Amino acid sequence: MKILVALKQVPARDSQIRISADGRWLDESDLSYEINEPDAYALEAALQLREQHGGEVVVLCAGPERATSSIREALAKGADRAIHIEEDDLGAFDTLSLARLLAAAAKTEAPDLILTGLQSDDLGGGQTGVVMAELAGAPHATIIMAVEVNGAELRVKRELENGLFQYVSMPLPAVLTIQSGINKLRYATLMGIKKAKTKEVRRSTAAELGVAPEPSVVLQRVSQPQRVKQTQMLAGTPAEQAAQLVEKLRFEVRAL
Ligand SMILES: Cc1cc2nc3c(=O)[nH]c(=O)nc-3n(C[C@H](O)[C@H](O)[C@H](O)COP(=O)(O)OP(=O)(O)OC[C@H]3O[C@@H](n4cnc5c(N)ncnc54)[C@H](O)[C@@H]3O)c2cc1C
Repeated sequence: MKILVALKQVPARDSQIRISADGRWLDESDLSYEINEPDAYALEAALQLREQHGGEVVVLCAGPERATSSIREALAKGADRAIHIEEDDLGAFDTLSLARLLAAAAKTEAPDLILTGLQSDDLGGGQTGVVMAELAGAPHATIIMAVEVNGAELRVKRELENGLFQYVSMPLPAVLTIQSGINKLRYATLMGIKKAKTKEVRRSTAAELGVAPEPSVVLQRVSQPQRVKQTQMLAGTPAEQAAQLVEKLRFEVRAL
């Protein structure tokens, strides 16, 4: 069974985020990067499926040269090989053109299963996997909590709202978008880190894959959420104040 895992490198969660001078992205000078969290769980799910059913796990990552560190980390954890679509300016790709790029690379591999994260920690479009499935003409399911492979069929558990789950079956090949926290992430062993240095990383570019960025969505401006204190003094008797408080919590804050 060949499993392709789409893995995105994103700014580390504990980074000090600053907006770039043109206001259209992040100032990358002091940023450190890591594997997008849901993608780490997608990788772990792929490694566990390989352990159960055999086959190989191939990591697919589009990003600039620095994405190599995340690719090597995935290889150190146990992925067999990787494809790195090396592009310095991924800002020119919106989610649709990025999905076209990943789908073009995936086509060259003809995997049985493609796993992506549910969404990216930076842009959070949550669309890439679904669009890839559409482009590949493959069935897909989102917000996956568990994956079971029975021969040529998949049975997956999807997370719905209010603690509900849905079980769906579909034929392979298929695309799944994986929810964070569905398994226990493994650490890379010392041996894994050593081995990763010798594993194949096939480099490619958008031009080689015949995909040009044709963004239909252009990111205009990025801004930090504003921290504003809005103190309101409640008047009246304690009972009246309590009633006002409940009303505000229910209708303004929507916390009740
Ligand atoms: C100015 C600017 C600069 C940018 N610079 C970068 C950059 O340096 N590196 C970068 O990766 N993106 C960069 N992007 C974002 C890139 O365009 C997005 O990856 C793309 O639009 C996908 O949308 P999303 O992040 O909302 O993905 P979502 O749909 O939220 O992602 C879902 C899943 O798709 C997969 N996926 C998404 N992106 C990739 C990827 N690049 N490679 C492999 N799998 C992926 C992952 O499995 C992820 O969990 C930049 C965007 C802008 C506007």
